[in-house]
Amino acid sequence: MRLAIVGAGPAGIYAADLLIKADRDFDVEIDLFDQLPAPYGLVRYGVSPDHPRIKGIITALREVLDRTDRGDDAQAGDAGNAGDAAEGVDTEAARAPRGSVHYHGNVRYGEHIGLDDLKRHYHAVIFATGAILDASLDIAGIDAEASYGAADFVSWFDGHPDVPREWPLDAKQVAVIGNGNVALDVSRMLIKHAEDLLPTEIPDNVHRLLEQNPIEELHLFGRRGPQYVKFTPLELRELGEVRDVDMVIDERDFDIDDPYVAETLMKNKQVIVLTRIMNQWREAQKLRDAGEVAPASRRLHLHFWSKPVAVMQDADGRVSGIKIERTAPDGAGGVVETGEFEVVPVQSLYRAIGYFGSPLEEIPFDEKRGVIPNEQGRVIGADGSPVPGVYATGWIKRGPIGLIGHTKSDAMETIECLLEDRASWWQPEAPEAAAVVELLKSRNVPYTTIEGWHRLDAYELSLGEDQGRERIKVVSREEMTRVSLAE
Ligand code: NAP
Repeated sequence: MRLAIVGAGPAGIYAADLLIKADRDFDVEIDLFDQLPAPYGLVRYGVSPDHPRIKGIITALREVLDRTDRGDDAQAGDAGNAGDAAEGVDTEAARAPRGSVHYHGNVRYGEHIGLDDLKRHYHAVIFATGAILDASLDIAGIDAEASYGAADFVSWFDGHPDVPREWPLDAKQVAVIGNGNVALDVSRMLIKHAEDLLPTEIPDNVHRLLEQNPIEELHLFGRRGPQYVKFTPLELRELGEVRDVDMVIDERDFDIDDPYVAETLMKNKQVIVLTRIMNQWREAQKLRDAGEVAPASRRLHLHFWSKPVAVMQDADGRVSGIKIERTAPDGAGGVVETGEFEVVPVQSLYRAIGYFGSPLEEIPFDEKRGVIPNEQGRVIGADGSPVPGVYATGWIKRGPIGLIGHTKSDAMETIECLLEDRASWWQPEAPEAAAVVELLKSRNVPYTTIEGWHRLDAYELSLGEDQGRERIKVVSREEMTRVSLAE
């Protein structure tokens, strides 16, 4: 059976892995397409460069992509593809029906390959295209100059090939809206001294601009209270450990009577740890206020119970401040408005209030939630019934929530449904592997392969090694493709 997966991020790769390992009585060949010349999606282009622990997930993902064995018959005529693939495959899997995964980078669904092509060459498709846009924030002035979406900034600092190389870092006072892990990543990258990022895989152009970042104050806004944050403890603690940055807390935010906190939130272990971390910052602040500790050169202000209501602009239409309204607990986990407003002067602003998925040609899309409508991964059409042969997994299936590991259980659900539905899969006219390769060639698509990725990976690592750095990412699509395709 031949299956296509669109999207070679963690969601797509986990789906491929689970398909390969699934209990089935037929062989499976998986073609994994990605619009980028390199695999790993959000792990390469969403995780911050100073998070090597999370980037370590790549080791496991890579093992799946390296599984290019095609089964005994095919291998006899295609030895070049076998390579080292069998290594790392456990004996149980080796006894199971055979499976192979083939990565095709630089292939954009809807442009280079469409639904009709997939139906012609595969038995089913799984969309795992993630969510890479910023959710919109509907407040006055949000389109002002120097008002940015976090996803765009993350793409820039992670060297995404399709975003501009430059980023205007000229504000001394910056606002970040949101209390999730993306807001933490954005805040850390903005407030950290550039030299502390140098050992990471940060792209050169990003490091150069961050070196000139004049930031002095960063204001991080959450519309609910400190116990309601969506941060994870490890990431919050890390923010407080950034060198030469003082964490500044408004004591008023902690002095609010909210029965929901004691009755519900403080029963959660994670909330207890998060609160403890913030309490340590409050203690450190008292020492600073008493003159017992010297102040740092940069400050990160945490503002809770602060709902953004407008972005203020100067005469040139550039961000000059953020207007917030104080909120108060409603006693049931939500907030009420208080009618009390404040303007905090800032010269740039980042909204980190969640990601949003993009529609795919000929595939149903929920415009409100930014996901493909589905039931347990079965894509649901306009008539409310499943669309045969079409599945979804990852953030485009369930929305942009959860850590990378959660994507695995999500893929499990989708794969179970897909295997259950075998009777309703497509009947492809040309299911041979070579037919798709021919199609891509006939359309002049400069598609990259797993061997090409290994070349690019080795090249980036060697660039880093020369300078005593982890890796230096190649940023331009042309150069990525050139290195990948070089024999
Ligand atoms: P998130 O965790 O859902 O956080 C979104 C934040 O934006 C929340 O604080 C939310 O507040 C706030 N928000 C939403 N709408 C708002 C509005 N209109 N006005 C003001 N605030 C608003 O989303 P995320 O930070 O984008 O992260 C997405 C997922 O990726 C999460 O599961 C996250 O843990 C994961 N991630 C993990 C890491 C890591 O290092 N481990 C890094 C990045 C991302 P409310 O709570 O009040 O709705």
